[in-house]
Amino acid sequence: MRIEEDVKLDFKDVLIRPKRSTLSSRKDVDITRDYQFKWSGRRYNGVPIIAANMDGVGTFDMAKSFLKTQSGMSVALHKHYPIDKLVEFFDTSPPESVWYSIGMAGDDREKLTEFLKLRPSKIDKICLDVANGYSEHFVDFVKRVRDQVPDITIMAGNVVTGEMVEELILSGVDVVKVGIGPGSVCTTRKMTGVGYPQLSAIIECADAAHGLGGLICADGGCTVPGDIAKAFGAGADFVMLGGMLAGYDQSEQEIIEENGKKYVRFYGMSSDTAMTKHKGGVAEYRASEGKTVKIPYHGDVSDALQDILGGIRSACTYVGARNLKELSKRTTFIRVTQQINNIFGQS
Ligand code: 5GP
Repeated sequence: MRIEEDVKLDFKDVLIRPKRSTLSSRKDVDITRDYQFKWSGRRYNGVPIIAANMDGVGTFDMAKSFLKTQSGMSVALHKHYPIDKLVEFFDTSPPESVWYSIGMAGDDREKLTEFLKLRPSKIDKICLDVANGYSEHFVDFVKRVRDQVPDITIMAGNVVTGEMVEELILSGVDVVKVGIGPGSVCTTRKMTGVGYPQLSAIIECADAAHGLGGLICADGGCTVPGDIAKAFGAGADFVMLGGMLAGYDQSEQEIIEENGKKYVRFYGMSSDTAMTKHKGGVAEYRASEGKTVKIPYHGDVSDALQDILGGIRSACTYVGARNLKELSKRTTFIRVTQQINNIFGQS
């Protein structure tokens, strides 16, 4: 047994220090990014915020809304859409703002192969998602998918440490997904004791990825637009949001009415609710679980998008960053808490 004494930080442990700025308005800030992916070689231009591949978040309706509002954000579709619906969707929607998601379990890979036979050039980005990205089995899986789709961008994870980021990038991943335990409906930290404070995970993983020409996506733990700004400030190239985009018309979930108030159920993808819905029961081997919560129904997502994008623009003006790329260079974090006393605060 070993104890690491270094301080590890979460979003709540820091604030971004304001800096002298020549910007007069947040309208002057460009929050799109241009990337060229290491392995696929494809170019990306957009606002690098991704709706998580969860029921109630990574939906067709969310993707349509992102396009309609010209938010520039993208959606990782949840992996439970049947193939005919996927074909129908991709036939009418541009692929630029969508990530096609697969996991390692079940018939996800066969579904992808089948989809690629039917529509060989419709998808340009894949999100390969497992709860624990540390297994050798996962790395082998990543390599096989990379061999299968050499020119499609692959985002894969989740991991939280630099050495595993490097291994995944060297195995063919373009964007490594970073985050174990910070999710709003994730109970991994409670159930297993495993996790890593998200801000430190982002700082360390971004450094490892950028050294190899790869990118990272900070996944989980953002509860307000300021957390997204902190994630970008810490070096994230993309930020993935679950809870912040749940409970809207675009969630494709039933709206529950109780005592004159409207609610929507939001649940982790390895919660009892998701397992029962998609697999007919909870698989015994799942150690990391998720919970189900009832959240207020918020109406259309477009107001939330304005808040999110406005918050990030504003953060840029506070530190004098003309664009999102400069935000990280101009970020100085101030620690506002002592070492975390309650790591279960967010789970
Ligand atoms: P949020 O933005 O809600 O804080 O976090 C979203 C992220 O939580 C997702 O992108 C995913 O990585 C993670 N997540 C979603 N469902 C579950 C779950 O059931 N268990 C765990 N451990 N993580 C989950």
